[in-house]
Amino acid sequence: MIQEKGTISIHTENIFPIIKKFLYSDNEIFLRELVSNAVDASQKIKRLASLGEYNAALGDLKVSVSLDKEAKTITISDMGIGMTAEEIKKYINQVAFSGATEFMEKFKEAKDANEIIGKFGLGFYSAFMVADKVEINTLSYQEGAEPARWICDGSTSFELVAGDRTTRGSDIVLHINEESADFLEEGKLSEILKKYGQFLPIPIQFGERTESEPDGEDEEGKPKYKEVTVDNIINNTSPIWTKSPSELNDEDYLNFYRELYPFSEEPLFWIHLNVDYPFNLTGVLYFPKVKNELELSRNKIKLFSRQVFITDEVKDIVPEFLMLLHGVIDSPDIPLNVSRSFLQADGNVKKINNYITRKVADKLSELFKEDRTAFEEKWKDIGLFIKYGMVSDEKFYDKAKDFVLLGNVNGAHFTMSEYAEKVKAEQTNKEGNAIYLYTSDAAKHHSFIASAEKRGYDVLLMDGPLDNHFISQMEQKLEKTQLKRIDSDVIDKLVEKDVVIESVLSEGESKTVKELFDKAINKTSMNVTIEGLSPEEMPVTITMDEFMRRMKDMSKMGGGGMMGFYGNLPDNYKVSVNGNHKLIKRMLETTDEDTQKRLARQAFDLALLSQGMLTGADLTAFVTRSVDLID
Ligand code: ADP
Repeated sequence: MIQEKGTISIHTENIFPIIKKFLYSDNEIFLRELVSNAVDASQKIKRLASLGEYNAALGDLKVSVSLDKEAKTITISDMGIGMTAEEIKKYINQVAFSGATEFMEKFKEAKDANEIIGKFGLGFYSAFMVADKVEINTLSYQEGAEPARWICDGSTSFELVAGDRTTRGSDIVLHINEESADFLEEGKLSEILKKYGQFLPIPIQFGERTESEPDGEDEEGKPKYKEVTVDNIINNTSPIWTKSPSELNDEDYLNFYRELYPFSEEPLFWIHLNVDYPFNLTGVLYFPKVKNELELSRNKIKLFSRQVFITDEVKDIVPEFLMLLHGVIDSPDIPLNVSRSFLQADGNVKKINNYITRKVADKLSELFKEDRTAFEEKWKDIGLFIKYGMVSDEKFYDKAKDFVLLGNVNGAHFTMSEYAEKVKAEQTNKEGNAIYLYTSDAAKHHSFIASAEKRGYDVLLMDGPLDNHFISQMEQKLEKTQLKRIDSDVIDKLVEKDVVIESVLSEGESKTVKELFDKAINKTSMNVTIEGLSPEEMPVTITMDEFMRRMKDMSKMGGGGMMGFYGNLPDNYKVSVNGNHKLIKRMLETTDEDTQKRLARQAFDLALLSQGMLTGADLTAFVTRSVDLID
């Protein structure tokens, strides 16, 4: 007969009110803690049985959660190893409180309940966040063990008496306090149970439900059914990440995805993670179909520890650029209950991060090698992840450089090395640099693209949200390669060759033409130069210097310092007048200054027009002038 009254041995008297108060916001985790204790106890008995250390029948192991609205209790019952009175003293009274004094000192700094609960071994005591009184009714698996009952009302004193449980296992009875009355709602309780327990390894029962079962045949020989009540099991005890990839087919992975994210579109593909050295980690990561950027949501990967859901904020554990993936990661080696700064410094977390990066890169590389066509088809969806990875992670860049694809304006895709080979002959300038031409807007730059293609040059389409960064990175990484946007100069200046086309104009004529254009345009932001271009080129081309435009783009995205300086400069364009175009000859042949100015203005407006830059009063003036010219 056990009969004991005592005081939990800590120095500070009122720990429970403090736990309650400070952990209040996160108080639903009491269920996670108590249910995982019950699951642990159940798994321990299973293990003992498999080791031959427990020989009685295991029974149908399950954890059941039940609700008594009248008594205002929630009970968590298991058929696990149970506890003797001695063990209650040791594990509940002492161990669970070993960190209590420290806790009292630190609680002020803690930002969330998770941080405190695990760090100070307060798992079991989280019950007091929602309960005024907690009872443990337990019977240990050990031969000759006597049932024990522990009652604690949330003060530091407890009661330990003989219990009345006749079967192995424990009931934890929570007398829910008034503020937490909403946990006594079935809906709420079942929601929390599902959130944390959806994939626990032992069946979790919550209530019952009715099912119809075949029940012989009626007189006419038609099958009959009867209603039966069955346990309502809320979890899937063997989710796919606990299985070996060789046991699984595509349908299994897709089904699991549907289970995780009902109503979502099917993923593009997935990666099964499985390591046991130097740390333990399993999981399945899915590449979602991204319809638009707004849809990118970051908290889609769920983190588990031995199948207990922990969080969907996986920052620091999953590389930043992979945060857009979906799926699950399960690792007992991730320190779950520590502060963010500690997590970042943790060696295991770094290794996990690197491992995931490498695994994702390997999988992508495999997909690329196995079926290039399929890979190209998916490029629109996965290109964004890959480029993000390349610009944010050197190691990933090194792997991805072999399968990242560059797409051109005609819809063809090339690897980096294929592209270098493709443009080598035509697009190497007189200094020996390969010039990659690109557009950020194929429709707007149509006339520039047409000129480039006339020369036999290729133009890349770089209209993705990360392409600016990707371009800078390619330039840093690729030797003797420059990227130039197609509208940053006239085509013969973009890819400068040794053969120079001379201007047919004399120095004096050039000066006259420049003056004419300056007067006709009359804008300080337009810098006119007369150049000797191919006679087939447009008479006037308006461009903005590549360097200047990049600086301005970056300052728009929030760069400070020098960027801010460039950002504040007014837009400045170069107006290249093609001295070899026949229009210029015509301009010089007339002596009527008015006609000359009109021609200059018309040519300039046509250039503006071809780039979508002609608007407002200038556009109206252009239309009127054009109509006059028809007359
Ligand atoms: P932790 O689970 O992190 O060890 P807890 O405070 O949650 O911390 O639990 C303390 C200890 O009490 C457990 O390690 C276990 O030995 C014991 N215990 C708790 N719940 C049960 C249970 N349902 N069955 C058997 N033992 C339990």
